[in-house]
Amino acid sequence: MKYTLPKLNYNYDALEPFIDARTMEIHHTKHHQAYVNNLNAALEKHPELNLSLEEMLHDPSKIPADIRQAVINNGGGHFNHSLFWTLLKVNNGRTPKGALLEAINRDFGSFDAFKEKFEAAAKGQFGSGWAWLLVGNDGKLKVVGSANQNTPLSEGRPILAIDVWEHAYYLQYQNRRPDYVSAFWHVVCWGMVEKLFEQK
Ligand code: MN
Repeated sequence: MKYTLPKLNYNYDALEPFIDARTMEIHHTKHHQAYVNNLNAALEKHPELNLSLEEMLHDPSKIPADIRQAVINNGGGHFNHSLFWTLLKVNNGRTPKGALLEAINRDFGSFDAFKEKFEAAAKGQFGSGWAWLLVGNDGKLKVVGSANQNTPLSEGRPILAIDVWEHAYYLQYQNRRPDYVSAFWHVVCWGMVEKLFEQK
Protein backbone atom coordinates (compact mmCIF):
# COMPACT_ATOMS: atom_id res chain seq x y z
CA MET A 1 0.00 0.00 0.00
CA LYS A 2 1.39 3.36 -1.03
CA TYR A 3 0.97 6.49 1.00
CA THR A 4 -0.13 9.63 -0.82
CA LEU A 5 -0.05 13.35 -0.13
CA PRO A 6 -3.41 14.41 1.33
CA LYS A 7 -5.17 17.33 -0.33
CA LEU A 8 -5.71 20.43 1.75
CA ASN A 9 -9.33 21.48 2.13
CA TYR A 10 -8.34 25.16 1.82
CA ASN A 11 -6.20 27.25 -0.51
CA TYR A 12 -2.55 28.00 0.15
CA ASP A 13 -3.38 31.66 0.84
CA ALA A 14 -6.17 30.82 3.31
CA LEU A 15 -4.00 31.42 6.37
CA GLU A 16 -2.66 34.81 5.34
CA PRO A 17 -1.51 37.11 6.80
CA PHE A 18 -0.41 34.74 9.57
CA ILE A 19 1.16 32.04 7.38
CA ASP A 20 1.96 33.07 3.82
CA ALA A 21 0.83 31.22 0.69
CA ARG A 22 4.33 30.52 -0.62
CA THR A 23 5.34 28.84 2.64
CA MET A 24 2.18 26.73 2.62
CA GLU A 25 2.69 25.66 -0.99
CA ILE A 26 6.34 24.67 -0.56
CA HIS A 27 5.63 23.06 2.80
CA HIS A 28 2.84 20.90 1.36
CA THR A 29 4.04 20.12 -2.16
CA LYS A 30 7.78 19.80 -1.46
CA HIS A 31 8.43 18.98 2.19
CA HIS A 32 5.40 16.81 2.92
CA GLN A 33 5.60 15.17 -0.52
CA ALA A 34 9.24 14.24 0.17
CA TYR A 35 8.26 12.51 3.43
CA VAL A 36 5.61 10.54 1.54
CA ASN A 37 8.05 9.54 -1.22
CA ASN A 38 10.77 8.51 1.22
CA LEU A 39 8.31 6.57 3.38
CA ASN A 40 7.07 4.63 0.35
CA ALA A 41 10.64 3.94 -0.77
CA ALA A 42 11.54 2.55 2.67
CA LEU A 43 8.43 0.35 2.87
CA GLU A 44 9.09 -1.11 -0.59
CA LYS A 45 11.95 -3.03 1.01
CA HIS A 46 9.47 -4.84 3.28
CA PRO A 47 6.34 -5.74 1.30
CA GLU A 48 5.48 -8.31 3.98
CA LEU A 49 4.96 -5.58 6.60
CA ASN A 50 1.30 -5.39 7.56
CA LEU A 51 1.09 -2.61 10.13
CA SER A 52 -0.58 0.76 10.03
CA LEU A 53 1.65 3.81 10.16
CA GLU A 54 0.24 4.64 13.59
CA GLU A 55 1.06 1.17 14.89
CA MET A 56 4.63 1.49 13.67
CA LEU A 57 5.15 4.96 15.10
CA HIS A 58 3.51 4.03 18.39
CA ASP A 59 5.99 1.18 18.84
CA PRO A 60 8.99 1.56 16.49
CA SER A 61 10.45 -1.75 17.72
CA LYS A 62 7.91 -3.37 15.38
CA ILE A 63 9.60 -1.74 12.35
CA PRO A 64 12.32 -3.83 10.66
CA ALA A 65 15.70 -2.53 11.82
CA ASP A 66 17.02 -1.67 8.36
CA ILE A 67 14.19 0.81 7.69
CA ARG A 68 13.33 1.81 11.27
CA GLN A 69 14.92 5.25 11.26
CA ALA A 70 13.63 6.01 7.75
CA VAL A 71 10.07 5.18 8.87
CA ILE A 72 10.42 7.18 12.10
CA ASN A 73 11.66 10.20 10.11
CA ASN A 74 9.51 10.02 7.00
CA GLY A 75 6.49 8.16 8.36
CA GLY A 76 6.57 10.58 11.28
CA GLY A 77 6.80 13.46 8.82
CA HIS A 78 3.78 12.15 6.92
CA PHE A 79 1.73 11.52 10.07
CA ASN A 80 2.59 14.85 11.70
CA HIS A 81 1.89 16.99 8.63
CA SER A 82 -1.32 15.13 7.75
CA LEU A 83 -2.62 16.04 11.20
CA PHE A 84 -1.16 19.57 11.19
CA TRP A 85 -2.95 20.68 7.99
CA THR A 86 -6.34 19.78 9.45
CA LEU A 87 -5.71 21.94 12.54
CA LEU A 88 -5.30 25.21 10.65
CA LYS A 89 -7.95 27.82 9.94
CA VAL A 90 -8.12 31.57 10.51
CA ASN A 91 -10.19 31.65 13.70
CA ASN A 92 -10.99 35.36 14.17
CA GLY A 93 -10.26 35.13 17.87
CA ARG A 94 -12.32 32.02 18.63
CA THR A 95 -11.05 30.08 21.64
CA PRO A 96 -11.82 26.55 22.91
CA LYS A 97 -15.29 25.72 24.20
CA GLY A 98 -17.17 22.98 25.99
CA ALA A 99 -15.47 19.82 27.20
CA LEU A 100 -12.08 20.84 25.79
CA LEU A 101 -12.13 24.17 27.63
CA GLU A 102 -13.13 22.38 30.84
CA ALA A 103 -10.22 19.96 30.45
CA ILE A 104 -7.79 22.81 29.72
CA ASN A 105 -8.94 24.63 32.85
CA ARG A 106 -8.74 21.42 34.89
CA ASP A 107 -5.26 20.39 33.73
CA PHE A 108 -3.51 23.75 33.17
CA GLY A 109 -5.46 26.11 35.43
CA SER A 110 -6.60 28.41 32.61
CA PHE A 111 -6.52 28.85 28.84
CA ASP A 112 -3.80 31.50 29.23
CA ALA A 113 -1.69 29.15 31.35
CA PHE A 114 -2.07 26.46 28.66
CA LYS A 115 -1.04 28.93 25.94
CA GLU A 116 2.03 29.92 27.91
CA LYS A 117 3.08 26.30 28.32
CA PHE A 118 2.48 25.45 24.64
CA GLU A 119 4.37 28.54 23.48
CA ALA A 120 7.28 27.70 25.78
CA ALA A 121 7.47 24.19 24.30
CA ALA A 122 7.32 25.58 20.74
CA LYS A 123 9.87 28.33 21.28
CA GLY A 124 12.12 26.16 23.42
CA GLN A 125 12.34 23.16 21.09
CA PHE A 126 16.02 23.20 20.15
CA GLY A 127 16.47 22.85 16.40
CA SER A 128 13.76 21.23 14.31
CA GLY A 129 10.70 19.69 15.88
CA TRP A 130 7.15 20.11 17.08
CA ALA A 131 5.13 21.12 20.12
CA TRP A 132 1.99 19.16 20.96
CA LEU A 133 -1.13 19.15 23.05
CA LEU A 134 -1.89 15.54 23.93
CA VAL A 135 -4.56 13.62 25.73
CA GLY A 136 -2.05 11.69 27.81
CA ASN A 137 -2.29 7.99 28.50
CA ASP A 138 -3.64 8.91 31.97
CA GLY A 139 -6.47 10.92 30.35
CA LYS A 140 -5.02 14.30 31.30
CA LEU A 141 -4.07 16.97 28.81
CA LYS A 142 -0.38 17.67 28.54
CA VAL A 143 2.05 19.71 26.46
CA VAL A 144 5.17 18.04 25.10
CA GLY A 145 7.84 18.81 22.52
CA SER A 146 9.36 16.38 20.05
CA ALA A 147 12.55 16.58 18.04
CA ASN A 148 12.80 16.12 14.27
CA GLN A 149 9.71 14.26 12.99
CA ASN A 150 9.29 12.12 16.09
CA THR A 151 5.63 11.65 16.97
CA PRO A 152 4.39 11.72 20.58
CA LEU A 153 2.10 8.70 20.01
CA SER A 154 3.64 6.62 22.79
CA GLU A 155 2.81 9.40 25.29
CA GLY A 156 -0.78 10.01 24.24
CA ARG A 157 -3.19 11.13 21.57
CA PRO A 158 -2.23 14.38 19.78
CA ILE A 159 -5.02 16.95 19.36
CA LEU A 160 -3.00 20.10 18.54
CA ALA A 161 0.42 20.56 16.98
CA ILE A 162 2.71 23.31 15.78
CA ASP A 163 5.50 22.61 13.32
CA VAL A 164 8.58 24.58 14.40
CA TRP A 165 10.93 23.42 11.65
CA GLU A 166 12.35 26.51 9.94
CA HIS A 167 10.64 25.40 6.70
CA ALA A 168 7.32 26.16 8.42
CA TYR A 169 8.05 29.87 8.93
CA TYR A 170 11.39 31.06 7.55
CA LEU A 171 10.18 32.80 4.36
CA GLN A 172 7.86 35.06 6.32
CA TYR A 173 9.40 35.23 9.77
CA GLN A 174 13.09 34.42 9.08
CA ASN A 175 14.76 33.68 12.42
CA ARG A 176 11.84 35.05 14.47
CA ARG A 177 10.28 31.79 15.61
CA PRO A 178 8.58 33.49 18.59
CA ASP A 179 6.64 35.77 16.19
CA TYR A 180 5.47 32.74 14.20
CA VAL A 181 4.44 30.98 17.41
CA SER A 182 2.46 34.04 18.55
CA ALA A 183 0.78 34.31 15.13
CA PHE A 184 -0.12 30.61 15.26
CA TRP A 185 -2.94 31.33 17.75
CA HIS A 186 -4.80 33.12 14.94
CA VAL A 187 -4.87 29.96 12.79
CA VAL A 188 -5.79 27.22 15.26
CA CYS A 189 -8.99 25.52 14.13
CA TRP A 190 -10.45 24.99 17.61
CA GLY A 191 -13.45 23.19 16.14
CA MET A 192 -11.11 20.44 14.93
CA VAL A 193 -9.18 20.33 18.21
CA GLU A 194 -12.48 19.94 20.08
CA LYS A 195 -13.54 17.17 17.70
CA LEU A 196 -10.27 15.28 18.18
CA PHE A 197 -10.50 15.74 21.95
CA GLU A 198 -14.02 14.34 22.04
CA GLN A 199 -13.24 11.35 19.80
CA LYS A 200 -11.55 9.40 22.64
MN1 MN B 1 6.95 20.77 8.25
